[in-house]
Amino acid sequence: MNSIEQRICSCIDAHASELTAFAHDIYTHAETGYAEHRTARQVVDWLKNRCGLAPETGLAQTGVRASLGTSRPSICLIGELDGIRCPEHPFAVPETGMSHACGHHMQLAALAGAALALSDPLVAEQLDGSAVFFAVPCEEHVPMNRLNQLRQKGIASCCGGKPELLLRGAFDDIDAAVTTHAHMVPCDKDFLLGSNSTSGFLSKLIHIKGRASHTAIAPEKGVNALDVVTLARSAIGMLRSTLRDADCVRIGEVVRMGNSAINVVPHEVTVDLQVRAKTWEALLDADKKIDRAYRAAAYAFGAEITITDDMGYLPTIPAHPCQALCEAAALLSDRATSEPVSFAVHNAASTDVGDLSHRMPVVNFTFSGFSGTLHGADFRITNEEKAYLLPAKLAALTMYRLLRDNAAQAQQLIATYQPPMSAEAYREYAKKFEAGFVGEPSPFVFR
Ligand SMILES: [Zn+2]
Repeated sequence: MNSIEQRICSCIDAHASELTAFAHDIYTHAETGYAEHRTARQVVDWLKNRCGLAPETGLAQTGVRASLGTSRPSICLIGELDGIRCPEHPFAVPETGMSHACGHHMQLAALAGAALALSDPLVAEQLDGSAVFFAVPCEEHVPMNRLNQLRQKGIASCCGGKPELLLRGAFDDIDAAVTTHAHMVPCDKDFLLGSNSTSGFLSKLIHIKGRASHTAIAPEKGVNALDVVTLARSAIGMLRSTLRDADCVRIGEVVRMGNSAINVVPHEVTVDLQVRAKTWEALLDADKKIDRAYRAAAYAFGAEITITDDMGYLPTIPAHPCQALCEAAALLSDRATSEPVSFAVHNAASTDVGDLSHRMPVVNFTFSGFSGTLHGADFRITNEEKAYLLPAKLAALTMYRLLRDNAAQAQQLIATYQPPMSAEAYREYAKKFEAGFVGEPSPFVFR
């Protein structure tokens, strides 16, 4: 470790109690995507008052972005602002049920610690290019019924913060991103270096309109919308045998009933559905089967059906750890064990980092320091050093190694990355959904 790297680590150690308090404060005040106003204020205060930076605010509602330096290449370190609804979590906010059971507050601690260490004038003068600290809203996908309300109010048009920011041009001057998360696949090391593939997903809003009638006097005059859902779900259950295990297709549904009474045939049902798969091709295949099952079930009962598809997240392009990340992890090996990702392991969850990975190189690592399951009531921080301080050190050391010496490592990372989608192609992809994307989508080809 050279003297600058020692300075980075000493700075984070010297502020360990403030960083831990910062993280714990956010941990206990989780907020919903695109409404993380308090969390954003905490990040702004930290970047301004502790780091002497001048953050931009209000990006896609709550995003906060501060730049150290103005030259290129610019490498941004990302922290996600939002919580997840999990009312059973002991730190859930009682009024909203929001919690940080996905550990996004840990990412914000990493961002805060890295921003503090890299803003030290002696460290900052070693950086050739810009280190950008970007706290982004809403990683946890907004379901379509809420998204439609956000659209009407002009708040957001995408179900995730990074797609929203990509479309708004907030990443246009960023050359590469460093992302972090609590471990998402089983890992007994403190750091998992690189990106596993994650599934992409599409959102569907399925509206079924039947006919109300008295359930006892005249059930024959009704059209039961809930029965349509039951039949469609049975068909989808049987169709599972036509989905390849290797494609990791997952279907999540929330069935919402209108204002029905128990003695009225259920006449209106809305299904919020999310279909995930490892590849775009498998996603479209499963999507068509779901459409057919619902349409056929509606036909069987004589119900009206409307299916609207909406943009979800793209699959994450897997990536081996870059040299800077491996070197940084080796510098911390006396305190934290690490290993590189295996491409044989697929993460069946989805993240909007997938969208980012189609536009720029993503340097990702995940970390330990917690127990229990992500999004579960049993999620707990078990080791504050591993959850908050070591990720801050790894992020800062990686950024430093990327940007030092004429940013040679950053330049190499950028030069060897071929974006599967241009900014224009990404906008076109999003536009398809804006135009309705009802029923059969025309296949979008990914290289
Ligand atoms: Zn998460």
